[in-house]
Amino acid sequence: MEDCVFCKIIKGEIPSEKVYEDEEILAFKDINPAAPIHILVIPKKHINNLLEVKDEDNYLIGKIYKTINKIAKDLNIEKDGFRVIVNCGKDSGQEVMHLHFHLLGGKKLGAKIIG
Ligand code: AMP
Ligand code: ZN
Repeated sequence: MEDCVFCKIIKGEIPSEKVYEDEEILAFKDINPAAPIHILVIPKKHINNLLEVKDEDNYLIGKIYKTINKIAKDLNIEKDGFRVIVNCGKDSGQEVMHLHFHLLGGKKLGAKIIG
């Protein structure tokens, strides 16, 4: 999508600190971290949000969770734990309309951490 910030990051038009990339998925550091580790994991395919996920995306969504599993281990937060958040729509505070999974960790997370 032309005006989408995350599509621009995927295309390299906006810089990002990448932590993982393959043909279908990109993960990069959140520019305004809410925790010592705050990674955004996104599909390269533009999907507005969770409501737009279709049956054909089932494999992709599963792979995103497996990728989060890998990143958590790579960043050594698997023992202490972490949180995954997906905001969807107005009441959640979703700001960027490109499906993204927040991976948060590196400290004891409070009840309200994002959104
Ligand atoms: P959400 O409120 O769930 O839509 O979260 C959007 C997240 O994207 C926020 O945590 C922002 O800090 C983050 N963000 C926005 N622009 C960028 C960017 N250019 N690079 C990295 N993270 C970004
Ligand atoms: Zn996009």
